[in-house]
Amino acid sequence: MKVSRLADGSPEIFHTLQGEGASLGFPAVFLRLSLCNLHCHWCDTPYTWNWEQTPWTHQDGVKFSKTEEIVELSPAEIAPLILSYDCNRLILTGGEPLLQQDELVKLTRLLPEITFIEVETNGTKLPSDDFIDIPTQFNISPKLSNTGIDEKLRLNFKALGLFASLEKAFFKFVVCNQSDLDEIKTLHSKLNLSPDRIHLMPEGRDAETLQHRSLWLADICRDQGYHFSPRLHVLLWGNERAK
Ligand code: SF4
Repeated sequence: MKVSRLADGSPEIFHTLQGEGASLGFPAVFLRLSLCNLHCHWCDTPYTWNWEQTPWTHQDGVKFSKTEEIVELSPAEIAPLILSYDCNRLILTGGEPLLQQDELVKLTRLLPEITFIEVETNGTKLPSDDFIDIPTQFNISPKLSNTGIDEKLRLNFKALGLFASLEKAFFKFVVCNQSDLDEIKTLHSKLNLSPDRIHLMPEGRDAETLQHRSLWLADICRDQGYHFSPRLHVLLWGNERAK
């Protein structure tokens, strides 16, 4: 499996608190997978996809070496690293985890001790029948036009419709501007979601930006019935990796 690699060469597997969404604040082990099929210009993990000699743009203007940012490990090698933490919640994140869903099925079969598994996904990839059974919770984050990505690439309504039909799926939108609300409302209606399954989260990789955007986003959530989500890990640790 292609796992994001930290500066010391170790895979990005870490024990922290869930910083966003429906299970905010729960202790969890994160497995950060490399590779993504989208290229959001504000992405907070560009080291999972913004490789040298690729045409994609990112607001940081920094490219990464694919060979230096990926560590290849088998499910059998990853499982004990996850189990080395005394924690029963695992969060599979990326990048885009569903690009490696067959391997994730094998991995989770090696983890009977883990009772809660969350999958973070951009919602563009259809999960296999085997993969759908894995998570206790899907955190779907459909991408809006504020990512700079063409709608045909960032919205797959076949996949989004399937996720919307699962009670265990929550939807999380990253909000940059108040005008993003129109797109969220359109998706809300098109996917026939109840507002309590929708979490709005300010975009930002520093506390000052989050504070500024949280003030108007909190008002929107109160008025529209959406769930407000902060970015707890950013408020606590800034943009530090493996936190
Ligand atoms: S989908 Fe997620 S991981 Fe992929 S580029 Fe966008 S924000 Fe980054």
